[in-house]
Amino acid sequence: MAAIFGPGGFLEKSMIGGYEHRPGQLQMAEAVHDAFENHHHAILEAGTGTGKTLAYLLPAICSGRRVVISTATKSLQEQLYQKDVPFLQRHFAPQLKVAVMKGRSNFLCLAKMHAMADQPVLRGMEEVDAFRQIKDWARLTETGDRAELTFLPDDSELWTRIDARRDTCTGQKCPEFQQCFLTAMHQRAKDADLIIVNHHLFFADLALKKDDFGSILPEYSAVVFDEAHEMEDVASDYFGQQISNFRFEELARDADHAMRLTHQGTPTLLRRTQRIRERSRSFFDAFPPRDGRFSFSRHEREAFLEQNREAYDALVNSLKGMETEFAALTQKPEELLRVARRSFEIRQELAFLFESNEKNYVYWFERRNKGVFLAATPIDVSQILRERLFEAFDTIILTSATLTVGGRFEFIRQRLGLDHVKESGLPPEFHYEEQALLYLPQKMPDVRDPGFAPKAADEIVELLELSQGRAFCLFTSYAQMNDLFERVRDRLDFPLLLQGTAPRSVLLERFKNTANAVLFATSSFWQGVDVPGDQLSCVIVDRLPFAVPSDPIVAARVRALQEDGRNPFAEFQVPQAVLALKQGFGRLIRSKTDRGVLALLDTRIQRMPYGKIFLESLPRYHRTHDLAEVGRFLAAASPAHRRKAFKEAG
Ligand code: SF4
Repeated sequence: MAAIFGPGGFLEKSMIGGYEHRPGQLQMAEAVHDAFENHHHAILEAGTGTGKTLAYLLPAICSGRRVVISTATKSLQEQLYQKDVPFLQRHFAPQLKVAVMKGRSNFLCLAKMHAMADQPVLRGMEEVDAFRQIKDWARLTETGDRAELTFLPDDSELWTRIDARRDTCTGQKCPEFQQCFLTAMHQRAKDADLIIVNHHLFFADLALKKDDFGSILPEYSAVVFDEAHEMEDVASDYFGQQISNFRFEELARDADHAMRLTHQGTPTLLRRTQRIRERSRSFFDAFPPRDGRFSFSRHEREAFLEQNREAYDALVNSLKGMETEFAALTQKPEELLRVARRSFEIRQELAFLFESNEKNYVYWFERRNKGVFLAATPIDVSQILRERLFEAFDTIILTSATLTVGGRFEFIRQRLGLDHVKESGLPPEFHYEEQALLYLPQKMPDVRDPGFAPKAADEIVELLELSQGRAFCLFTSYAQMNDLFERVRDRLDFPLLLQGTAPRSVLLERFKNTANAVLFATSSFWQGVDVPGDQLSCVIVDRLPFAVPSDPIVAARVRALQEDGRNPFAEFQVPQAVLALKQGFGRLIRSKTDRGVLALLDTRIQRMPYGKIFLESLPRYHRTHDLAEVGRFLAAASPAHRRKAFKEAG
């Protein structure tokens, strides 16, 4: 690793991409290499700018083992595949075989596309045009991955009718199986040295281990998790159960579609699917109309069923009715049998969600937009991950910029069940004490005091005047975001962007391309957002990002720790908020030349004993209580100031 990453090593000598030796990167590459060589787990906190991707990819290639690289999002998968993999192939491993695997709904289903071409059920000229373009593309594409269809909106309804999700897929019995893009994806993965997935696909595979194409992932010997701080949340989703009104609507839609395809759509059968739709609507309408996530304990479920037994039974019977009708058909087309099997699975899941009472699960429901979601989520995934991941494989690498609390990995290790592992905290690549100033105002009321919001609005206005916009204002809830936005909108002359007024990616692009813009946002902008340069020069956080204690999952996790005789505040709530704050503040400094101000308006960080943990966990930012110092710092960091200094220096 030293010969590649070290001072005067291959990368520095060849000056590939203006490469500079980074001590943290070399240290990380050596630690990952050691894990691959000696078959042990490793956990590494690598701050922004460490160059962690190459530091795990090169040791992975050198290991000669088949390694799965799991990233947090599809766009990170794309970035690895389009930027880092070609680099490796050009300079280190021309024969390297890499496969990208994504969930089925990312791929085109050829069978559905042909069926749609034969029986045109397109809605409007726009769909006709989009479908024509997709058909042309289908002839050329090697992957069938919708990421190549840049014209297709994220929420395209047409795509949901032709993607390769399980619903009507007949697997090996499909006449298109040989040409199917999923078959090709699985084949590439079987031949690959590196398989790039996202956490959702990884945990779907770990939880299920089967699909129409066999296991989702082929055999592998090691895994690298990038953005490993997201593992607990994603694993909780896949080791739990969830059902929503959409599942019933999709089932009815797919049943109709399968009947059309197989020419079985008799009026009696079509009435059956219509009944599923109607009964699902009345059943889900019985849930309280308020948006939000609520506990659904055994007692609450029993009370709900007592009041709505008729609607529940009617829904279950409508599914049973369709299954019986399909089973009674003389011809039994595979497409219909599959729908019947799904219907049976849905009934089982519904029964589990209402009748089971597993100790390690928290039961809840959520109303969001037009959806009602019923779920059972594991309270603690550590035992599941210990058995299925950390004891089943000998080399698992976890990395992220936010894994430690107070310099220790204890929290994340406990949450994930990672008992035996070599830990490394790598030296930061940036000079945070010079590049960033942390502003902590002293005269703020407590965040729970009614006087907090007006004072926070004053602080935000003053800070934004000093930074000339160019800021993210990050909030822990929509209510706080909207409240503060309303309080400051008429007092500022900068372009203001508000989360929820456009899709996330659109808002981000607007922010990047609008001079002096300010974005008001909540949790989804706290991570995975990258705006290097002067465009983002200030990040304001209104309060310490503690998870909402009334959220049923948080409440159940707190209760479980209490029952275990532990201190949930110190062992769970504080560490979780520390990692979230590190993520939020991490948006500011993205390169060696970035400079800017971080502001936290919540004085608990200064007053409360636990505030020390937050401060000890953050990089060593220079700190101030003085707005005038913020002004001086920003003036010195501003582009105009730098231009002047540059001129003066000749
Ligand atoms: S195998 Fe399944 S996904 Fe592939 S083309 Fe056939 S039906 Fe579609």
